[in-house]
Amino acid sequence: KRKPGTDLEIAQSADLRHIRDIAASVGIPEDSLEMYGKYKAKLPLDLIDEEKVAQSNLVLVTAMTPTPAGEGKTTTSIGLTEGLNRIGKSTTVVLREPSLGPVFGMKGGAAGGGYSQVVPMEDINLHFTGDFAAIEKANNLLAAMIDNNIQNTKNNLGIDPRTVEWKRVMDMNDRSLRNIVTGMGGKAGGMMRETGFNITAASEIMAILCLAKDMDDLKAKIGNIYIGDTYGGEAVFARDIKAEGAMAVLLKDAIKPNLVQTLEGNPAILHGGPFANIAQGTNSVIATKMGMSLSDYVVTEAGFGADLGAEKFLNIKCGYSGLSPKTIVVVATIRALKYHGGHPLATLKEPDTVSLSKGLLNLEKHLENTKIYGVPAVVAINKFVSDTDEEINIVKERCEALGIRVALCEGWEHGGEGTKELAEQVVASVESFKGKYKPVYDWSWSVKEKIEAVARKIYGARDIEFLPKAKQNLKKIERIGLNDKPICIAKTQNSFSDDPKWLGRPENFTLTVREIEIAAGAGFCIPVTGNMLRMPGLPSMPAAEGMDIDNNGKITGLS
Ligand code: ADP
Ligand code: MG
Repeated sequence: KRKPGTDLEIAQSADLRHIRDIAASVGIPEDSLEMYGKYKAKLPLDLIDEEKVAQSNLVLVTAMTPTPAGEGKTTTSIGLTEGLNRIGKSTTVVLREPSLGPVFGMKGGAAGGGYSQVVPMEDINLHFTGDFAAIEKANNLLAAMIDNNIQNTKNNLGIDPRTVEWKRVMDMNDRSLRNIVTGMGGKAGGMMRETGFNITAASEIMAILCLAKDMDDLKAKIGNIYIGDTYGGEAVFARDIKAEGAMAVLLKDAIKPNLVQTLEGNPAILHGGPFANIAQGTNSVIATKMGMSLSDYVVTEAGFGADLGAEKFLNIKCGYSGLSPKTIVVVATIRALKYHGGHPLATLKEPDTVSLSKGLLNLEKHLENTKIYGVPAVVAINKFVSDTDEEINIVKERCEALGIRVALCEGWEHGGEGTKELAEQVVASVESFKGKYKPVYDWSWSVKEKIEAVARKIYGARDIEFLPKAKQNLKKIERIGLNDKPICIAKTQNSFSDDPKWLGRPENFTLTVREIEIAAGAGFCIPVTGNMLRMPGLPSMPAAEGMDIDNNGKITGLS
């Protein structure tokens, strides 16, 4: 029976092992560690061993279309890692680092939940090893160098300030900085222009860090960042103002992945945290390869539902890195299935087998998509205490009828003891698959064709409409040379369609592409299909109001 307690209380009562012991368990000598206190360490990149990466088994955790509360991908990833270790498979969980915005806003931290967490939970959810701060500084150095170039007549590149798209970033939800005017105070204060702040997780630097192979690659990608145009209409890149070297200097530690541990003392690597809508939404390539160099299995997570997370993981991250998952775990919850079948959000704890059966259509479409990718799927039913046996059996029976492996995941309540069955299913699935994923599109196709392929095959759209601005952007993408790169579609996570209210399995809809943004450094363009905020705001009662720390340094109210 689960002991009572919040996520934070469970994490605080854990008996942590020294990080040198966690490192030793995967063969890393103490000398190789850069320790940040007793429980966190950075790992040098020379521990990455491509031969071991090629032999290790990558398991991707994604989800059905979520409810606003999130369906437990991180919790399931950590729980599955405990279960795999319990059945004798050396496994590392590799995840994103949390952003302070949601921690103090609404969603809370991103270190798992219940008895499936990574620790030290407070450090991970707060400043951790300073990676976000370094990314913020690198991003803002470029912003300062751009404004400085516009200000000075010597060394001036002729950048038209009205075309500058690069913004400053900060890791906090602060809507009042979303749109600002800088450069006030007359001639000495710079050239006045309209700009704004994004949250650090939305910085292109974050997307770049998470796709870079090594320092040279990081520098080259930073150099490719598109800044704006000259008065003569020529594109200007970060390399043109000679920013990439100094920016890379600021990232010298942030490029190294961070080792921590799970509640059961298994290795966890947390590194990078790009947004899942305007960026690829998964931890760094470096961290994934590090995990695969150290253990036989790596469990990793891709943000949002499989239509966004898994699609971008495969077509962008795997495309750039050569990685390929051997199994895709699709997290489903009874509450999300009921919600997609029409049950109101407020009463999802009540049993309702009718809505549940209808909502299975949503899960089925995600499972069909895994067939398009050609990677075997395992459904993990993330169990909540309110779920009934009858409801769980309906889901199991449907999966079995579809020929898909399925297991109940009780990691939140019981840690690794509650995920052994899921772990067995995942191992059986991994061992059954010797191939590689199939991309949804070929990078050499036109941007339009690539968007149409994802929209039709993965979302189930019938038509795709390009608004005038998007058509205009296509020309710019061609001019900048991003035509043969992958696409990173920004779409609501609440529906397969671009209408967040359309639940279940939408069909015969039109996907509207409003504009297409450029991330030349990261190496993709971003077709935008709805409103998306790169700088969120705080809710009316932010989580921050419930937080405190006492004289002994004990924190309360983090979730
Ligand atoms: P995701 O990674 O999909 O966004 P998380 O794993 O972060 O989801 O979980 C979202 C929230 O739901 C967290 O607060 C977590 O503690 C909670 N949660 C996850 N699984 C369960 C469960 N089985 N029972 C109760 N709460 C859960
Ligand atoms: Mg998560």
